[in-house]
Amino acid sequence: MLTVNAYAAPNATAPLEPTTIVRRDVGPHDVLIDIAFAGICHSDIHTARGEWGPAKYPLVVGHEIAGVVAEVGSEVTKHRVGDRVGVGCMVNSCRECRYCLAGEEQFCVKGNIGTYGSKDVDGTITQGGYSTHVVVTEDFVVRIPDALELDVAAPLLCAGITTFSPLHHWNAGPGKKVAVVGLGGLGHMAVKIAHAMGAEVSVLSQSLKKQEDGLRLGADHYYATADDSTFEDLAGTFDLIINTVSAKIDVNAYLGLLAVGGAMVNVGAPPEALAVNAFALIGGRKSFAGSLIGGIRETQEMLDFCAEHGIGADVEVISVVQVNEAWERVLASDVRYRFVIDTATLG
Ligand SMILES: [Zn+2]
Ligand SMILES: [Zn+2]
Repeated sequence: MLTVNAYAAPNATAPLEPTTIVRRDVGPHDVLIDIAFAGICHSDIHTARGEWGPAKYPLVVGHEIAGVVAEVGSEVTKHRVGDRVGVGCMVNSCRECRYCLAGEEQFCVKGNIGTYGSKDVDGTITQGGYSTHVVVTEDFVVRIPDALELDVAAPLLCAGITTFSPLHHWNAGPGKKVAVVGLGGLGHMAVKIAHAMGAEVSVLSQSLKKQEDGLRLGADHYYATADDSTFEDLAGTFDLIINTVSAKIDVNAYLGLLAVGGAMVNVGAPPEALAVNAFALIGGRKSFAGSLIGGIRETQEMLDFCAEHGIGADVEVISVVQVNEAWERVLASDVRYRFVIDTATLG
């Protein structure tokens, strides 16, 4: 076993602090990854603070992992020492249910094994990427193409796939009008990817504060939702709306922006229930849907797509000692657009 440096939440309220954790021995199908960068996702904060259910402490979070293969098990065929690789939100699944067999491990009937805070096959609790190394079974490790730097690739492993998957599933592309609600970590990736897919992209944000950024990232249009005329002017416009906002919004007002047959897909997860008026759907054969990350095969497709189109996340690289401050800034939406921890600073 390998004892490695990490930053952990000691409980639901205290700041993260330096610690060491143990990584399992590299088994026949395992890959040992020397982590270079770990992105900071809002889910890390929700989970560490027990907001999505009780957590086991100390907990090391982080599911946007980019690094280099340091060692492989005797049976590993997919990766070699020195390969640039990534790990996202899952590190295993049952591999035999209908969804696993279809390459949609995120929907595993028995529940996928999350990168942190999940019960692993050996009964231990998984620990995530705010650490120097991780051991992961080869099938849940993806290849990061050479065209992508590791720091800007890290956030693709959650924010990238979370937005790529619904854009892909609902056929964003030439001739399609796509709206992205919220320009944060997820939203900025949705804009870049939808634009690269060839769609006409609009950002729907509370104010015009980030308009310049939105247009630079690839949006064709930018609208303020605080302005009521936006909802009148854009009625019946969009084929697809990707909602990245985790706060309560007036869903029916947004459904009014969909064209006939359009879909509004939620990737943000507000804690409260959202009220949907059935008439807002019936009148235009509209859908109100959700989407959860993507399967391993699709995650690889997303990385290859991003490499081909020169898409990385817009990142602010930080030292690990800045992580508590960075979390406060994530909660204040004060980041453009993703913090990435340089794990070399873990020593
Ligand atoms: Zn995430
Ligand atoms: Zn399964």
